[in-house]
Amino acid sequence: MRLIFTAILFCTIALAQAPKATVLHAARLLDVESGKITAPGEILVQGDHIAEVGAKVNHPAGAEVIDLGDRTLLPGLIDAHVHLFLHPGAEDLQTVEESVPQRTIIALLAAKEDLMAGFTAERDMGTEGAGSADTAVRNAINKGMIPGPRLRISGNAVDLTGGHEDTNNFNPEEHLLSNATRADGAAELVKVIRQQFKEGADFIKIYETGRDSLVNGVFKTPYQYTEEELRVAVQEAGRVGKVVAVHANGEPGTGWAVKAGVSSIDHGTQLSEETMRMMKEKWIPVVPTFAISEYFADHAGSEAASASRRRSMAYHAAEFKKQIAAGVPVVMGSDVGPFPHGTQAREFELMVQYGLSPLQSVQAGTVNAARLLGWEKQIGTLKAGYLADIVAVPGNPLENISALTKVSFVMKGGTVYKK
Ligand SMILES: [Zn+2]
Repeated sequence: MRLIFTAILFCTIALAQAPKATVLHAARLLDVESGKITAPGEILVQGDHIAEVGAKVNHPAGAEVIDLGDRTLLPGLIDAHVHLFLHPGAEDLQTVEESVPQRTIIALLAAKEDLMAGFTAERDMGTEGAGSADTAVRNAINKGMIPGPRLRISGNAVDLTGGHEDTNNFNPEEHLLSNATRADGAAELVKVIRQQFKEGADFIKIYETGRDSLVNGVFKTPYQYTEEELRVAVQEAGRVGKVVAVHANGEPGTGWAVKAGVSSIDHGTQLSEETMRMMKEKWIPVVPTFAISEYFADHAGSEAASASRRRSMAYHAAEFKKQIAAGVPVVMGSDVGPFPHGTQAREFELMVQYGLSPLQSVQAGTVNAARLLGWEKQIGTLKAGYLADIVAVPGNPLENISALTKVSFVMKGGTVYKK
């Protein structure tokens, strides 16, 4: 009896020590850094990590083999600009009318949609008035309670009184909150930043420019914080090893943010020659968010509004070509939320339409995005020792970038979520 018990115990320990092994096999595998396609492609996954990558890897006894047929294996996609707490209808009053518990349920569903579309990591750029509820979402995903991408979260974003995200022009007696946390001046910025980190934020998002206009081909956007105020914010975040990312659409705000040392320029419609040079030199990427612009143009309230949005898109596309030519690093970010979660791989197609090669577009949403999120050497490429965040798409994405909109297999940290 005792002998049997010991044997069972031994087997249990032996099983616990050998992590579950899975071999993924597909027609192709893409090395996103070099652009090299390996055919066929195989990956040995042990536990939550990649153990081997190549045309033929070891098949340990007892390993599950998943044959994905005529597909290409690539690293899990990364969207560096999402809003889990928003759903379509951004121009409505959802952030005023919906309670934080209601919006948190919506965020959980959004996280699942994004994961199923192949996004295994994301940077959430603000809960838009749901405070630090994103802390609960990130932690629940990390504990395996709900399916979702790995998350870098910013809590509520930071904005001026009367700024880009404030509830301006409503009855002042209603005292409506802003969709971001108000902070005016350096001292308030420091206080708000400390509070957001206390509540669980991984980084800080600041609205550095206000409402944009394009009149007779001249793009204008007011700055919100001075360069000195941004420096104070970056220093305060840096004190605890964290960073600041900005919504910034044009000069002088974009240049001031880059000089202050932010981690990325989101939207980045218009950048001066000097700003582009510094972004290349300091590796501060632009996150163009074309998908949201296209959605708003397609769903504008009138013909005139739609035409105006298309003129802005054309202007942004022309500026993006200059940014590519200047060597500004690009990271994929869709601004999904105001348009349906799970559909944001459209951004990869638009980045190609506006000047990136298919490989550059894939890099923007894998290896470059991993670096921006501070997860380089852990995710973003398929290498031994990296976390097993892996997707498969039909055909070859370097021949047809639209393959990324048809992700048919999703693994995150060694667990299969879609097959
Ligand atoms: Zn956004």
